[in-house]
Amino acid sequence: MRGSNSDRLLERVAQPGNSQMAWAGRDSWDNTPEELLEYSWRLDHGDWSRYSLETDRMFPDLPHGRHVLEVRARDRDYNVDPTPAVAGFSVVPSVWLQAWFVTMVISFLILVAMLIWIIIRIRERHLIEQQVEREKHLVEMDRIKTGFFTNISHELNTPLALIKGPLESMLEAGPDEDGEQLLSLAMRNVDRVANLVSQLLDFRKLEQGQMRIEAEEGNISRPVRECVDLLQPLAKRHKVSCHLEMVEPCMGWFDADKLKKIVQNLIVNAIKYSPSDGEVRVLLDAVPGQGGGRTLSLIVEDTGRGIAPKHLHHIFDRFYRVPEKTIVDGSGIGLNLTKELVDLWGGEIRAESPIHQDVKRPGTRFLVHLPVDLENISNKGSSHG
Ligand code: ADP
Repeated sequence: MRGSNSDRLLERVAQPGNSQMAWAGRDSWDNTPEELLEYSWRLDHGDWSRYSLETDRMFPDLPHGRHVLEVRARDRDYNVDPTPAVAGFSVVPSVWLQAWFVTMVISFLILVAMLIWIIIRIRERHLIEQQVEREKHLVEMDRIKTGFFTNISHELNTPLALIKGPLESMLEAGPDEDGEQLLSLAMRNVDRVANLVSQLLDFRKLEQGQMRIEAEEGNISRPVRECVDLLQPLAKRHKVSCHLEMVEPCMGWFDADKLKKIVQNLIVNAIKYSPSDGEVRVLLDAVPGQGGGRTLSLIVEDTGRGIAPKHLHHIFDRFYRVPEKTIVDGSGIGLNLTKELVDLWGGEIRAESPIHQDVKRPGTRFLVHLPVDLENISNKGSSHG
């Protein structure tokens, strides 16, 4: 700022800040040297300051907005310059007070609030969906449980009635009349109830981790043949042929009790779900296993109604029964128990359907692989370590 009229000089000073203003002057008659010129100033038309040799001034913490600084000079003869020098300058407001910044912050806050709202809504919806899913699952479990207990009651009721009936008839008819036939019907149903009760007990044992594979070395075909023989009367009643094809002898380590349960469940199903004149084949062989050991390959296939692809991967679920028009007695636990036993043994089971071209009799094939080398059998009983 020179000692002249310069009110067009406009500076922009950022706030907060100290605005340092400096000025200089010259005596037009060259009477007073520059350093002896005295100055007085005023800010924003306030009071004039006392004359002094000061040539600059710090104005701290000026409010934002436009300001005017006027400076006048006096020579050593006390002549005062009649036209003070005028300097206009602006103090720019702090960034957080500027409109663009405030707008940006408000927009940002609105955006954040909207995002939070959207996230909360999504979470709420997700929680509601989860809740609905949970409730659906509970309802489904409840339905399955109720269905299971209805089936089990029915399963127990039917054979009991069929035991009671023949016994009553035998009592009425006297010991000789049709006695043998009625007794065998009663026996069959005793077996049915006993089998069901044994399956329920097996489940308990499996769930409590008490079930073990009690392996012994011998001819594996023996228990399989026993099973097939035992089920011939059932096959005959259903007018289904059931035969065993195997390579003899088939030596290895096996748990006869578990093997019989596996084979029996698969054959009973194959007979149950086959129409009359159906055919059930049981194929047995010992084949090389994956880890170099030997594996028992058991295949049970039928010419029955088959299993639709959408049901195929559910049939090993506990209580799962394929909804059918023709109701066949059952509880939906047989295949689940079979799979649990195969898993316990360290083997594998899978089902294939259809296996025949005939659309009326597409058939089903169950393939079971069980290790028959002692070291590859899992969950062995205490006698095997
Ligand atoms: P279930 O007591 O109902 O026979 P399972 O667990 O043994 O119970 O079988 C589950 C379901 O799998 C059966 O309800 C049946 O629909 C189907 N299934 C099992 N084996 C066969 C088969 N050989 N042919 C056709 N369907 C089968």
